[in-house]
Amino acid sequence: LFGMIHLISQSGQEDILLSPYLPASFAFLTHVALCAPFLALDALGSVSPRVRSWRIAAGSGPPPSLRRWFACFLRVLYRYVTAVLPATALFHSLRSPALPQLAPSCWQLFVEVFACLLLFDTLFFIWHVSMHRVPWLYRNTHRLHHQHHVPFALAAQDSGSLELLSLLLLALSSTWVVGCHPLSEVFFHLINSWLAVEDHCGYELPWALHRQLPCLGGAAYHQAHHTLHSVNYAPYFIHWDVLFGTYRGPV
Ligand SMILES: [Zn+2]
Ligand SMILES: [Zn+2]
Repeated sequence: LFGMIHLISQSGQEDILLSPYLPASFAFLTHVALCAPFLALDALGSVSPRVRSWRIAAGSGPPPSLRRWFACFLRVLYRYVTAVLPATALFHSLRSPALPQLAPSCWQLFVEVFACLLLFDTLFFIWHVSMHRVPWLYRNTHRLHHQHHVPFALAAQDSGSLELLSLLLLALSSTWVVGCHPLSEVFFHLINSWLAVEDHCGYELPWALHRQLPCLGGAAYHQAHHTLHSVNYAPYFIHWDVLFGTYRGPV
């Protein structure tokens, strides 16, 4: 009986794993789950001076209201349902559904994820500079994301459908060029989502990742981009901005 239940649950798991709707649903739910602690911080900010002191733009007004969070949630959900879900379902159906028998080694996983992050960071830097330098591109893709002068976690994916699809294409191209194992690909997408949320969270937290790894920009670095527009184009690492003279350190 247990063997039968195991077999049934295994085939059920395989169905879920191969569902064309899984990638977009997983990406959306992951994004919302990663943002949840920052929603709690924004709520705590109204009663705790210590939490308020971690806000980067403490002087520029109170944390985003619940209404602003909810409006942003609806916009992101709408674009996922109307653009990301159909695009990823189509891509999924064109891909080979076969999953490899073996998981990658820890070292292979680390190398592949790191290579993907470096490549995605480079491609995003080029695309981001283009979106700012070509007025037509800015108006039709990137302007929506810049409605947030002081961003908050959920705003990491508050972009137009065209921009969301272009970022998806850059992420998928990175994993394709690196030749990732599917498990490394899942880890890359998870870390990519987390870094985007951390970049937009609006808090300079004592345990933030960029404090341990100075090669990362962090939230203050990306917030400077939202305020000034012409600096800090790379999403995660600072080397391209330092090299091209567009780096602006946290003030
Ligand atoms: Zn941003
Ligand atoms: Zn920008």
